[in-house]
Amino acid sequence: MTTSASLPAEPASEIPGDGVTDRLVEANRRYAAKFADPGMDARPVLHVAVVACMDARLDLHAALGLELGDCHTIRNAGGVVTDDTIRSLTISQRALGTRTVILIHHTGCGLESLTEDFRHELEDEVGQRPAWAVEAFRDVDQDVRQSMQRVRTNPFLPHTDDVRGFVFDVHTGLLREIDPSS
Ligand SMILES: [Zn+2]
Repeated sequence: MTTSASLPAEPASEIPGDGVTDRLVEANRRYAAKFADPGMDARPVLHVAVVACMDARLDLHAALGLELGDCHTIRNAGGVVTDDTIRSLTISQRALGTRTVILIHHTGCGLESLTEDFRHELEDEVGQRPAWAVEAFRDVDQDVRQSMQRVRTNPFLPHTDDVRGFVFDVHTGLLREIDPSS
């Protein structure tokens, strides 16, 4: 959630380099050794799509009691409903049978400390401004409401009656539901 424009450079000794990827690939070998093919097709068992922030402290499957195959998870910085989120939700609903949408933002999100100036900083650094909005926000509740509204009013989505939004507290692990109308 930061660029070199806004982050101090890390000392070279602390940069993990490709050792991290090697570690993950090794973990995958152990995973595959015990893996039993559940024989599922691609349609989520619970017919639900979860749109959430990419934050590393949010373990969606554990936090929501989800099992393999239960849901689609669509994640980005902020859990924002962007055009690309709508692309995924449209495929999720029209091709893969989901009907429920759950939106999850969280306390302490990195997007609360950014502004659209981030785009200008990028432009200064690399010579071009990104086409995308930063989607920074100040009020997480209001941002959840806006995300719910974007899903509910989207013409490509056939199922917009079961859309609920929450804020995950990274300190307690609890979800707090956001009233779409307040
Ligand atoms: Zn976040």
